[in-house]
This record gives sequence, C-alpha cells and structure tokens, in this order.
Amino acid sequence: MFINIFWFFVECSYNQLVTDFGGRRTVTVYRHPAIAMVVQGTVRFMDFSPSDEQRLLVDTARQFVERELLPHEREVERLGDVPEELARQIRDRAKAQGLYAANMPETAGGGGLDPVSLSMLDRELGKAGWGLRGHVGRPSAILNACEGDQREPYLLSVVRGERKECFALTEPGAGSDVMSIATKAVRDGNDYILNGEKHFITAAGVPDFAIVFAVTGVEETPKGPRKRFTSFLVDRGTKGLAVTRGPRSVGYRAYPNFQLVLTDCRVGKGQVLGEEGRGFEVANEWLGDTRLLVASTCCGMAERLLDLATKWAATRKQFGQTIGRFQGTGFKLADMATELRAADLLTLNVAWKLGQGTMASSDAAMAKLFASEMVGRVADHAVQIFGGMGLMEELPIERLWRDARVERIWDGTSEIQRHIISRALLRPHES
Ligand SMILES: Cc1cc2nc3c(=O)[nH]c(=O)nc-3n(C[C@H](O)[C@H](O)[C@H](O)COP(=O)(O)OP(=O)(O)OC[C@H]3O[C@@H](n4cnc5c(N)ncnc54)[C@H](O)[C@@H]3O)c2cc1C
Repeated sequence: MFINIFWFFVECSYNQLVTDFGGRRTVTVYRHPAIAMVVQGTVRFMDFSPSDEQRLLVDTARQFVERELLPHEREVERLGDVPEELARQIRDRAKAQGLYAANMPETAGGGGLDPVSLSMLDRELGKAGWGLRGHVGRPSAILNACEGDQREPYLLSVVRGERKECFALTEPGAGSDVMSIATKAVRDGNDYILNGEKHFITAAGVPDFAIVFAVTGVEETPKGPRKRFTSFLVDRGTKGLAVTRGPRSVGYRAYPNFQLVLTDCRVGKGQVLGEEGRGFEVANEWLGDTRLLVASTCCGMAERLLDLATKWAATRKQFGQTIGRFQGTGFKLADMATELRAADLLTLNVAWKLGQGTMASSDAAMAKLFASEMVGRVADHAVQIFGGMGLMEELPIERLWRDARVERIWDGTSEIQRHIISRALLRPHES
C-alpha cells in the first residue's frame, strides 16, 4: 500500500491535467494522470482520458449541438417555444445519431451509457438551452421502475421518442420541503382518487403523462408520524387532470413549465410506479442521476461562456490594447478556467463513483452545488468581460447568464445541497 501511495504522488507530480479550451477542439480531455484514490488499502484508478468511444460520442454531440441546436436558439427564445416541426426534426436527428435516450438502458432501447460517458454527453448538450436540448430526449430515469404492462406505454414508448413525461413533485406549498406535499391519493377499490396541485413542472413540450407524487398514508415511526408517498403514472386526458402553462421564467424561455391540477382524478392501481408508499424511495434511487445531469450541464454551459469570453477578450481593443491584457480581465478568465476545471473533475469523479456503486447522496450534492454556483460566477464574469454587449440579445451571453440562474434552484437549491452535505459530515459524530 505504501508503494501505491508513493506512485500516486509520483504520478501527480510528473503529469499534468490538460483541458484544452482553444478553438473548435475544445473537448475537455483529461490525458494524464490516472487519478488514484486510496480505498481500503488498495489504489483504485479514475482515469478520465476519454476512450475512443467517448471521444466519438463527444465529437458527435458537439457537432449535433452546433448544427442542429445552436442555429435555432435565438428564434426559440423569441417565440418562448420550440415549434413542433423543429422539435420533431431534433428528435429524429438525435435518434439517427444515437443520442436520443442515451441515459436509458439498452434493454429498454436506450443508449445504455455508463455514468462517466453520460456526463460527457450531458456536458456537450449543456451548451444549448433546455428548450432545444430537451428534444434530444433524456427520459426520467425513474421510469426504469416501470414493470409489466407499464413498460410499453410509460418506458419503451418514451425511449423511442413517441411519448414524453414530466416529473411532478413540487407544489405551491411544497418546494424544498417535499414532506409537506399536500396532494392526496385515496384508495377506492382497485382505483385511487387523486386531489391536489403541482406547479413549475417542466417538459420539452406538452407532456403525454405525468409522474405524480401524492400522499397515500401516514406511518408511525420512533420519531413520530410520517407521511407515506406513492408515485403515479397519470396520462394527460385522464378525467380530473388539468394541465396548463405556468408563468414565464427568466431563463430557458423555450422550456415551458406547467401547472397540474388534479380534481377527483381516478387512476387504476396499475398506474402505481414502484410500490405503494415507497414513492420517495423510488425517486431517491434516481436523484443522483439528475443532480449529475445539472452538474454536467453547468460545466458545458461554463465552457461555452469561457470560450466566448476568451475570444472577445483577445480581440476587443480599448486604450490601444486588447482587453484581455488588462489584469482585471485576464484574471477573470483565469478564475473562470480554474473553477471550470475543478467542477469538471468533481463532476467526473462523482459520475465515476456512481458507476462504481459508491456514490453517496452528499457526493451528488457536492457536484450539483459546486458546478451550479461555478456557472453563475462564470456567467457573471462573462457579462462583465463583454461590457454592454454582454447584455444585448444579439449575443448569447445574456441568455446563458439568465439560463444559468435556475441551476442553483431546481433539483434542490444550493442551500438544500449544503444541508445534505453537512448532515453527511455531522451524522457519524452525533449521538
Ligand atoms: C424553471 C423551473 C423548473 C422546475 N421544474 C420542476 C419539475 O419539472 N418538477 C418538479 O417537481 N419541480 C420542478 N421545479 C421546482 C424546483 O425543484 C423548486 O423550485 C425547488 O426545489 C425550490 O423550491 P421552491 O421554489 O418552492 O423554493 P423554497 O423551497 O420556497 O425555497 C425558497 C428559499 O428558501 C430556502 N430554504 C428552504 N428550505 C431551507 C432550509 N431547510 N434550509 C435553508 N434554506 C432553505 C431555499 O434554499 C430558497 O433559497 C422547477 C423549478 C423551476 C424554477
């Protein structure tokens, strides 16, 4: 073990982590070294050098973003929507390129990517906003809990891009505090009757069905009574379910959010996803995946911002010289690049841990927290480097700056991530 630790330090001191931000070939390439971790007396290597397959995946995704998504970003932003014809074109071309539902298992018809490869893909797609990128298809992993007759309508058809879902957890009275969900499902023979309201529920276009979380009972625990939650698959068009557009958001304008109102909405027991009373346990199994998705997206967005800001700083002249030569600008670029590198490494590390089966919820929380805060700072620096032009709609900077804001809020706010991390630190030391 001592020798292994020794080689770890030798590796680290003789090799360099390389991220190439220049020009079109801006893949984040961790060439060397294999980063070593001492785990229970042995050294495990996390080597983030992309394999040939990963390199191909990243190149394919980059070209897809540049050709199929970015040319439309201004128009969909103006419309606040993605026209159906364009949405279909993106879906079809993403399928043809093997990018559609790449997160889902091959047994369900998906790409079956491992978490590190998926993170690399999400990072590239993150350079385009959710309005467009949402049509590339990344179904909620929770749908893997579908069983028997549920698989065709709620899993396989989604992976094929024929139907789309939305994940309906948040309510007007229950945001961070999900335990205060008030939507109820009451058993009635073989059915359940749902009543309640969900808001801020996003989807790439009007969803065909919703994964709705509702209270189905209360159990006694040593700490007192505790609500039991169940998740239901509820089709749009079911009597008693009203789906309407929610308010316009400042960011990701072409990615609408919906309000769902359930009024005596009757669904069969075959619509229960997973086990009754275990809705949160089912959701929690996949939460790490969504937090990594946010982290990877933020890294992609930050790389785009850094790339644009660097080129601007290298060419824009004031006082007879390029503004990048002023320390106030050059140091901002240095901070942006350094923070991005750190976020990239943390995100890939957590993705790797997910693949190894060793990821804790605090790991995913750290990646989400750090990357989403990082992109906020990077976006703000980018606006500053562009000066007035950074706020004009002619350039993508102001849009990326607005889009980045929600990354610190959805999928658990930064404060909630800090809560998860601090609880994990304190728990072993508390009686
Ligand atoms: C654009 C958008 C899309 C969304 N998409 C979806 C979706 O598809 N499906 C879905 O279910 N939800 C979705 N959400 C909801 C999102 O997950 C919630 O907005 C988020 O969890 C925060 O809840 P809240 O907005 O009610 O804020 P609140 O929970 O009211 O929080 C307000 C503030 O209080 C702080 N706070 C709350 N509790 C604590 C605490 N214990 N300690 C410290 N600080 C605390 C928060 O950090 C925050 O700063 C979306 C939200 C947005 C904005």
